[in-house]
Amino acid sequence: MDDLVIGSGMAGLSAAAMLARAGRKVLVLEAHDSPGGYAHTFRVRDFRFCAQVHYVFGCGEGETIDRLLGALGLAAEVPWVRLDPEGFDHVVVAGDRVRVPNGLRKYEQRLARRYPDAARPLHRYFRLVEAVAAELDRDEELPKTLSPVTLLRSAIRYRHLLRHSRSTLADVYDAVGMPPRLRAILAGQSGDYLLPPEQVSFILHVALVHGYDRGAYYPRRHFYHFVDAVVGAIRGRPGCDVLLERTVDRIHVDGGRVTGVTTTSGERFTADRYLSNVDPRRTLELAGLSRFSDADRSRADYDYSASTVTLYLGVKGLDLREHGFGSFNVWHYPHEDIGRMYRDQLERHDLSDPWLFMSTPTLHSDEPGTCPPGHQILEIATACDHRRFADLRRRDRRAYNREKKKIRDRILEIVEATYVPGLHDHLALRVTGTPATNERFCRAPEGNAYGSALTPKNVDLRRRPYRTSLENLWLANATAGFPSVAGAVGAGLKVFDEMQRG
Ligand SMILES: Cc1cc2nc3c(=O)[nH]c(=O)nc-3n(C[C@H](O)[C@H](O)[C@H](O)COP(=O)(O)OP(=O)(O)OC[C@H]3O[C@@H](n4cnc5c(N)ncnc54)[C@H](O)[C@@H]3O)c2cc1C
Repeated sequence: MDDLVIGSGMAGLSAAAMLARAGRKVLVLEAHDSPGGYAHTFRVRDFRFCAQVHYVFGCGEGETIDRLLGALGLAAEVPWVRLDPEGFDHVVVAGDRVRVPNGLRKYEQRLARRYPDAARPLHRYFRLVEAVAAELDRDEELPKTLSPVTLLRSAIRYRHLLRHSRSTLADVYDAVGMPPRLRAILAGQSGDYLLPPEQVSFILHVALVHGYDRGAYYPRRHFYHFVDAVVGAIRGRPGCDVLLERTVDRIHVDGGRVTGVTTTSGERFTADRYLSNVDPRRTLELAGLSRFSDADRSRADYDYSASTVTLYLGVKGLDLREHGFGSFNVWHYPHEDIGRMYRDQLERHDLSDPWLFMSTPTLHSDEPGTCPPGHQILEIATACDHRRFADLRRRDRRAYNREKKKIRDRILEIVEATYVPGLHDHLALRVTGTPATNERFCRAPEGNAYGSALTPKNVDLRRRPYRTSLENLWLANATAGFPSVAGAVGAGLKVFDEMQRG
C-alpha cells in the first residue's frame, strides 16, 4: 500500500478519495460497520437515520464540498438542495420565532425592524461579523506560525482576526451593548458548536454563521448517498479499498517512522505513509506518547467539546409542515439565558427544560429512501454531559436505560406541548442516542461532538491538519482541522495537498 488511512470520517474519506484519484494505492480502515464517522447512516426497521449530520455548508460553487465532489467527478451524482433562503434556521426564544435568512444584511434589517431599540448594537455586531468573515475567507494565506515578523506583516490584513483571537461571543456582545433577547437569538445556532456565548470563540461563531449564511444544504439523495459516493470513488480505483470493522489498536513506530498498524483482530497492515482521521490525542496514544515531540504532545493537550442526546423519530399520520416545520431547522430555547441552559444541562445534569434542535430530513428532500411511504422523520438533539451517561452505562445498564427514557420522555413532552400536539399518538419509531452511543459507534472520545472544545484557547489561527513529528504520519479531523462536514472535508483536502507536496 502507498497510503493507509485510519478512520472513515469525512476528513479521512475526502483525503483517501483524493489520494486514490492521484494514483496512490490507498487503504482505509474503519472500526464501525458503516463508513462516514458522524456522517454515517444507520438503519432501524424501514427507517434510515444519518447519525448526526443534519445540514451542511460549503456546497456552493467553488466552496469546499463542491470542490471535493468536482475533483472526484461526482458533482452531478451528488446534488444538493438548499434549505429555505428566507429562513434556513428558525430560532424560537421563549416562544418568539425568528427566521434566519441567507444574507447578513437582510438578517440585520429583519432584526432591526423587530427590535428597533437594538438597531445600533445590531449594526456594530453585523459589521464586525462581516469584517471577521472577510478575513477568514483569506484562510489560505493565513500565516502558519505567529512569529513577531508574521504577526507584524499580518497586523493590518488580519486585524479583526488578531484582535478577536481571544474573544468569546459574549465579549463582543458586551462591547456592542447587545440586549438579552438578541444575545439569545444571535446565538441561536449555539448547538452547532455546543457552547454558550460566554465560552464560544467569537471567530468560530463567525465561521459558522458565515458558512451557513452562504447557503445551508441537504443532499438531495440523503447523507448515505453522499458518503457512499465518496467511498465509491476510493473503491473504484485499482488497488484501493475501504475495510469496515477494522479497529486499529496499535500504531507501530520504529526509527521515527510508522512501520504498520494492527487491529483488534490481530491483522497487520503496512504502507509508506499513514493518515489518522482519529482524534489526535487518541492517535498519539495508539503509537505511544513518548514517540512524539513535545510540540506534538502539547498540541494534543485539549479539552473536548460537549456531547449530545439525540432522538430519532419516525412519525406516521401527520404532516410536520402543519406544525411549524419545513425546509429549515427549528431551534427551541425556553428562555433568554443560554448560558444558564448549558450550565443546567452540562454541569447540573438537569434536562428538565433543555434547549432543543429539531430537524426534519424528510422535509428537506422529497427523495424517498429514509422511511416508509406516509411517514416522516423528526430528529431532536440537545447538549448533555458525557461522564454521567458513560458511568451509568458501565455501572448499571438498567439505570442507564431509565435515564435515557426519562430524558426522551421529557423532550417528547416539551415538543408535544409546544409544537406538535398529539405527537405521542403518531410515533411509529423512537430511538435515543446518548454520549455513550457517540463514543461506541463513532469512537468519539468522551462522546465529543465537535472535537476539541471550540473555546478561544482551542481555536487559534494554526488550527489545521498537520504532519506529526513521525515522518510519515499525518493527522486530519475535526480537531486537526475544523468540525462540521465542510470543516472535515476541508481538512481532508488540505492534508491531501500537504501529503502530495511531501
Ligand atoms: C450531534 C451532532 C450534530 C452534528 N450536526 C452537524 C451538522 O448538522 N452539520 C455538519 O456539518 N456537522 C455536524 N456535526 C459535526 C460533524 O458531523 C463532524 O464534525 C464531522 O463529521 C467530523 O468528521 P471527522 O473527519 O473528524 O471524523 P469523525 O466523524 O469523528 O469520524 C472518525 C472515524 O474514525 C473511526 N475510528 C476511530 N478510531 C478508530 C480506530 N482506532 N480504528 C479505526 N477507525 C477508527 C470512527 O469509527 C469514525 O468513523 C454534528 C456532530 C454531532 C455530534
